[in-house]
Amino acid sequence: MSEQVPEGERRAELAASLARVEERIARACRAAGRERGDVTLIVVTKTFPASDVRLLAELGVRDVAENRDQEAAPKAEACAGLPLRWHFVGQLQTNKARSVAAYADAVHSVDRERLVGALSGAAVRAGRTLDCLLQVALDAEAGTAGAAGPRGGAAPERVPELADAVAAAEGLRLAGLMTVAPLSGPYAGRPGEAFERLAEISTRLRAGHPAANMVSAGMSADLEEAVAAGATHVRVGSAVLGVRPRLG
Ligand SMILES: *Cc1c(COP(=O)(O)O)cnc(C)c1O
Repeated sequence: MSEQVPEGERRAELAASLARVEERIARACRAAGRERGDVTLIVVTKTFPASDVRLLAELGVRDVAENRDQEAAPKAEACAGLPLRWHFVGQLQTNKARSVAAYADAVHSVDRERLVGALSGAAVRAGRTLDCLLQVALDAEAGTAGAAGPRGGAAPERVPELADAVAAAEGLRLAGLMTVAPLSGPYAGRPGEAFERLAEISTRLRAGHPAANMVSAGMSADLEEAVAAGATHVRVGSAVLGVRPRLG
């Protein structure tokens, strides 16, 4: 596992994989006629140790993401002082809102009103402002099979009311939308079409909330499709850090 690799070797490994991902993003931006600066790479560090996060920071990474509070809270604490923005991208229980609000700069997985209330209360208590992205479940579109899958997210038709709830909540800033390419439903195996659909929903959202311009989409396997569809943030884990030690 990564912990057993000497630090110098691990640094070289991470530098090489980061360069490969950087080249993929740059090429995708060129192909789409977009500026490289319009896309932010978020490195998803779940299941990897704080020592990797430190190396990534030394290599110039400024945005990292985690998906489980139990793992993220101690890791963020171990990395306090590094110039990093912490993104929370996993399904979030309301009873974890207080912990997450203490270290996260952005939460990408806001998908229900109860969570908006919990995050707002937690942010106010912590004296912080949290960027909130609404997670859209594209396999839960009205007229399709229905309920959101195990990965969470709100059905597209629920986006307007959730957006208004976040915009009205103290301590929260409505930042944009996030999605994960669906494994089921009409977009299964079609990440490009899924991300185009997210872009449409984003355009509609920005008509009422012009500052909510973040579009978080694309992972190791489909970052090119996401950049082509207009993603502003790609969330890349295994292509930078390697195969995860355990399912994250
Ligand atoms: C793990 C994870 C990623 C990164 O996935 P890779 O395939 O390793 O790039 C992105 N987004 C979310 C929500 C994740 O949980």
